[in-house]
Amino acid sequence: MLNFKILTTSGNARSGIIKLNNFFVKTPIFMPVGTYGSVKAISPLELIEMKYNIILNNSFHLWMRPGLDVISKFGGLHKFINWNRLILTDSGGFQVFSLSKRNKITEKGIYFFSPINGDKLFLSPEISMKIQKILNSDIVMQLDECTPYKIYNRILSENEVENSMKMSLRWAQRSKEEFYKINNKNSLFCIVQGGMFKNLRDESLEKLKEIGFDGFAIGGLSVGEPKKKMIKILQYIGPKLPIDKPHYLMGAGTPEDIIMAVSNGIDMFDCIIPTRNARNGLLFTNFGNIKIKNARYKFDKNPLDYSCNCYTCKNFSRSYLHYLHRKGEILGSRLNTIHNLYYYFQLMRKIRLSINNNIFEKFVKDFCENRKYENKF
Ligand SMILES: [Zn+2]
Repeated sequence: MLNFKILTTSGNARSGIIKLNNFFVKTPIFMPVGTYGSVKAISPLELIEMKYNIILNNSFHLWMRPGLDVISKFGGLHKFINWNRLILTDSGGFQVFSLSKRNKITEKGIYFFSPINGDKLFLSPEISMKIQKILNSDIVMQLDECTPYKIYNRILSENEVENSMKMSLRWAQRSKEEFYKINNKNSLFCIVQGGMFKNLRDESLEKLKEIGFDGFAIGGLSVGEPKKKMIKILQYIGPKLPIDKPHYLMGAGTPEDIIMAVSNGIDMFDCIIPTRNARNGLLFTNFGNIKIKNARYKFDKNPLDYSCNCYTCKNFSRSYLHYLHRKGEILGSRLNTIHNLYYYFQLMRKIRLSINNNIFEKFVKDFCENRKYENKF
């Protein structure tokens, strides 16, 4: 049973606390992404040392490999991956749409071919709920259709977006019915769709409120639309989400995106950016981003970020990280990931503190000013 309490607000920004299955999560929170059941290049122990207590896993990939027969032998994902804290899983719909080109969407569900071996497979709201029950996810996501912004360079019409949104609503209802039918005691989040149309976003939200969920996610953003449109929709729908439930923006973003979304009432985030960028040598610091492969760092004895207390910054120079990256050493990926995830956790902590101290606006201003340029010192 998920319990959510708001501690303080500052404008539309909220600082709160989620209590779920004996864990407390302070919000706004960032959830590292472990697509295949592992957060790349980092161990659960290291995540715990950074104080993360919730991660995201992809139910689609885990369903494909290692498969539910393996995971059910362990009684769920927590034991299999040795993560005894909270897990949120997505419904698998997004992966089916994006990985399987040959798919057929019907009212009943999605027919598709396995990207692993070409087998013909089927995913429905009911099946997604069963998969996430076997995974024993603490937070289960409804199956929805992530409405694209464009198909083959053509922007979707209002009518097309409406049809997609309405099917997601019916799938939300079916997800909830199945969730209770199979006696899942964890929590279920819904996903507000409706593309770039305010009226459709309103309709989606109203119906989802009637059905009733433990948390409300915003989907169908960062799907190829211009950034301005994304911000407009977020500014419109974020503050309208039910005040007493956690608000989750799926798949965003950069530090700047997160701050913008928090100021519009979002509490939860996941994104591959800090981990994937770390492996590609793009590092976030309080003084702008660093591309560690750049020649300017070859002789640089400074840490990545003087103000950071992570293991990487406390012990290694930019020069060494530059060398590791150029050489393609695994340690380089590990040290970079440790820094970026530490940076994201600290970013969220500072956001929470600034909301609690009612200086969020000033925090946003200083933050943006400091991060304007690459590497000021
Ligand atoms: Zn660091």
